[in-house]
Amino acid sequence: MNNYIDLRQKNEPNLQHVKNIFNTNEIKTVSACPLCNSKQFLVTGRIDVNYLIENWIKTRNFNPIPLAYLNKKLEQRLCKNCNLTYYNYSITDCEQLYNLLATHNYYPAFRPEFEFVIDFLNNKKIKSVLEVGCGGGGFLDKIQNYVPLVLGSEYSQTAIKICKQKNLNVTDEKIENIKSKFDVVCNFEVAEHVNNLKEFMQSCLNKVDKNGYLIISTPNPNGVLNFVGDGILDLPPHHQCIISKKTFEYLAKIFNLKLTAYYETKLTYAEYENYVKHITHKNLESPDIAGFNLTSKILSGHSHVVIFKKIEPKKQLKTNI
Ligand SMILES: [Zn+2]
Repeated sequence: MNNYIDLRQKNEPNLQHVKNIFNTNEIKTVSACPLCNSKQFLVTGRIDVNYLIENWIKTRNFNPIPLAYLNKKLEQRLCKNCNLTYYNYSITDCEQLYNLLATHNYYPAFRPEFEFVIDFLNNKKIKSVLEVGCGGGGFLDKIQNYVPLVLGSEYSQTAIKICKQKNLNVTDEKIENIKSKFDVVCNFEVAEHVNNLKEFMQSCLNKVDKNGYLIISTPNPNGVLNFVGDGILDLPPHHQCIISKKTFEYLAKIFNLKLTAYYETKLTYAEYENYVKHITHKNLESPDIAGFNLTSKILSGHSHVVIFKKIEPKKQLKTNI
């Protein structure tokens, strides 16, 4: 794997005058794959937690990691059974982290995968959509004029405020507490933030109507992120796991879903610029368009999307024996 992270030895970071946002000091160790429970894994990276904390402080001026994890080594593991990438510690996130991130241009108004999903909604004449973790409402804003019922759920109050300014229908209720069912439940770049993917899938599926769809987009481990994705935002407590196409196939199997469509986003020019910066260690302005055309033929973009169809269990035929 290319996303092997260097093990760096650092001294204890200076935490004076730094805003700490965690509300726990408990260490949660992960002893098996959080999706399939297998204990068979490959170690694909290691990073010093102190190095992570230093980088949060340097780049964002706050520390989202509980101090109990000081001097620990974070180990990235690839499950040999379901292909999920997870970590040896469950350093969980909290609403406060997203409230602070929301002020750093965190929620994009557009993602390359939106068009693929919007085409799907149009083709299937979808009547109701629930977006779980709708952030600043970038996607809801694009579909609210032609999907009759649109609802977003979000737990960051800062993000909800952004949605309300756009007159979007949003709630801070947990998915379990939302009463209705929807033709489509979707989430964009949310699944990699949850530390129990199985539970998250189940709560989303509970809100999918009969023969409806669950759509998930998440960073693509085979895309550009594999080459440039070693930043703090790709690691706990922000990202808790990496979901591959093989993991999508595993999810389809255990939840009895049909994997009806799969799409890898194309490399965007902005991603290409980042990639060139990363491999040349130079801040090149407007790198060559010919190089972009060539690279985009061999390298996918940031995300991949899957569309699962819910299959209703077949009724047991009554036999007279
Ligand atoms: Zn697994």
